[in-house]
Amino acid sequence: MKAAVWHGHKDVRIEEVPVPVPGPGQVRISVDYAGICGTDRHEYEGPNFIPTVKPHRLTGRTAPLTLGHEFTGRISAVGEGVEGWKPGDRVTANGTLCCGKCEACRSGRYNVCQKLGFLGVSTDGAFAEEVVVEAARLFAIPEGLGQREAVLCEPLACGIHATNLLGDVAGKDVVVLGPGIIGLSAFFGARQAGAGRILVSGIGEWRRELIERCGGTYVNAAETDPVQAVEAWSGGNLADVVYECIGAEATLDQAIRMSKPGGKLMVMGVFGRKPVVDLNTLQEAERVIYTSQAHIDEIGTALRCLRDGDIPGKELITREVTLDTLVEDGFEHLIAHGPEHIKVIIRIGGRD
Ligand SMILES: [Zn+2]
Ligand SMILES: [Zn+2]
Repeated sequence: MKAAVWHGHKDVRIEEVPVPVPGPGQVRISVDYAGICGTDRHEYEGPNFIPTVKPHRLTGRTAPLTLGHEFTGRISAVGEGVEGWKPGDRVTANGTLCCGKCEACRSGRYNVCQKLGFLGVSTDGAFAEEVVVEAARLFAIPEGLGQREAVLCEPLACGIHATNLLGDVAGKDVVVLGPGIIGLSAFFGARQAGAGRILVSGIGEWRRELIERCGGTYVNAAETDPVQAVEAWSGGNLADVVYECIGAEATLDQAIRMSKPGGKLMVMGVFGRKPVVDLNTLQEAERVIYTSQAHIDEIGTALRCLRDGDIPGKELITREVTLDTLVEDGFEHLIAHGPEHIKVIIRIGGRD
């Protein structure tokens, strides 16, 4: 079968590899669509998390390995002892790999397992015609939702999970810094949770129409200082909750300065460099920093939101490539035109 295999920095090869065999408790899935995540792009330009020398602590794998953790498909084979799933079922899966034994796993927080791994980073992933996952991590794609649109459920689950961690955001003034797919997942997560008003800040005008149509306020940070914009928008009260979805020192600093006394910051961005954090401003008004790592079972909620039209999934897909064109039309295009895009997907089996 065909797969996009990561060999090294900017070295992703479309290769013929053996079809994987599901072990006990696992299923194999014929992939219909996959999504290119920010983490996939970081690996393309990396390595970042893919083990190249020391084998992964859970899977024992090192590169080369197949990329990809956002996908939809149909079950093609069922391993020993798997119940409740059969060939043909339309599914997606949480790509988290965990030990199942540590304190975090035992308490249900397997997304922060001590040996945490991820499909497509710590073992072979879904940028391939077939992928093997644990049956325990499967989600059925609901009737009425197509395979193409459903591929968005994984990134959207990140914003829903972060919002669940924050607790009560109902009626609150919420700011999202960064209008990429993770920022939008925070926007829709907060909106689903009944946030009062939501302001999104980003560079450029690509997202204004979508944010405003979905009931938010948009600020182009290239033209307006986001902290001043939040001051004016909130009548000087500042924000109850700020999601940082970029991963940069400057936006983390903005997030601190635009949150009100006792306000909550949610860090979702992945930082390329360690930021200097203004702890005095945080401390002077008991502002609280939260962090969020992937998601637990929020893919189920995301699938329902997509099916019900609460999140306009089709609009979030801004480009479609194939495995054969993944490198040039996917990764290289994203490096040159990143901010224009929300989600670039890969058509593999292509059944909807
Ligand atoms: Zn992802
Ligand atoms: Zn664990």
